[in-house]
Amino acid sequence: MTDDRHHFGTRALWAGESEDPHCRDVALPIHHSVTFAYEDVDEWFDVALDQKPGYIYSRNKNPTVRPLELTMRALEGAEEAISFSTGMAAISNTLYTLLAPGDRAVAIKDTYGGTNKIFIEFLPRAGVDVAMCDTLDFDGIEAEIRKGCKLLYLETPTNPTLKVVDIARLSRVAHEHGAKVIVDNTFATPINQRPLELGADLVVYSATKYLNGHSDAMGGILCGPKGIVDQVYHYREINGATLHANTAYMILRGLKTLELRIQRHNENAQRIAEYLHDHPKVDHVFYPGLPDHHNHAIAKAQMDGYGGMLSFALTGDFDQVKRFLPRLHLAHKAASLGSVTTLVGPPRVTSHVELTAEERRAAGIPESLIRYSAGIENAEDLIADLEQALAGL
Ligand SMILES: *Cc1c(COP(=O)(O)O)cnc(C)c1O
Repeated sequence: MTDDRHHFGTRALWAGESEDPHCRDVALPIHHSVTFAYEDVDEWFDVALDQKPGYIYSRNKNPTVRPLELTMRALEGAEEAISFSTGMAAISNTLYTLLAPGDRAVAIKDTYGGTNKIFIEFLPRAGVDVAMCDTLDFDGIEAEIRKGCKLLYLETPTNPTLKVVDIARLSRVAHEHGAKVIVDNTFATPINQRPLELGADLVVYSATKYLNGHSDAMGGILCGPKGIVDQVYHYREINGATLHANTAYMILRGLKTLELRIQRHNENAQRIAEYLHDHPKVDHVFYPGLPDHHNHAIAKAQMDGYGGMLSFALTGDFDQVKRFLPRLHLAHKAASLGSVTTLVGPPRVTSHVELTAEERRAAGIPESLIRYSAGIENAEDLIADLEQALAGL
């Protein structure tokens, strides 16, 4: 076990796991058992009522899943953490726990596609009033908060144009008006950004991305004060969006190298962003680590690293994208992000495929935009690959 004095690299390895007193395994066992047996009915009763540590049924708690939650709790510096079957389960369970008919929520427009759908379709249908704000119009967001709201939902940096939102400023205003603040920290991870330290109340993750980091497991995490996280836990317990023990093991294994991976993702993305920035066939590069990024100063203040995600618009139209992508060899042309291997895709056919060209323009997404999730390959190799692909245009 670890404490607050330990650094991330140490906490990621030691915070959640302890040796089994009988077998002394140094790798966490995967507990497939659905249920856990008791000889003493009084003890069973105490565990069932959460008055004694233990396990009853794996939809609720499981001895392989719990160490993952404890590790995330330590990495985030949170009082409590719980896991879910996917990132969307973490987000939807949290929103449905905290919002009731008649409540009002304020969110930015540039949230993840699935989250956006909850805000514009599902929550209004459930009687929740939602104000969707322009992501970079902080004055406008504050004005909506002042009208009264139960919660403020933020995501930063955003997909796919890496907009950076001022967490500390907006959290302050939200708290003055009694609202809770949720931040989707999937792009940054706790290595690059810790929203709770900046004043947010709750942090949600798609663990499918950097936390697991290998494009081979899906999960979600919620971190925050015990009172609220427990409420969401009881909702999830019944709603059933539980993480499986096998998957928890894989995400926990991913977390062991999170700090190392993120350092490399940060370095690679920065070098690639700088390279593309000066390339004549690239119209614009979106990356918070570039000095000409619209909110570089806020990113610098609230992040410890600028992350592995960038996007860039090619000069020309969408046909350029169709010519460019097949020429890239060191990248999977696929949706998703945050893997050890580089993943690229055009938002026009992935996250923003359902919008019209007009709507994409209004959202600030150029038709020739390419989202690039820099992997942990050698940066020179990735740049050489981009170089030859651009040369062919
Ligand atoms: C992928 C993603 C989600 C959804 O996570 P799933 O694990 O796919 O359900 C939510 N937020 C962000 C920022 C994401 O990138």
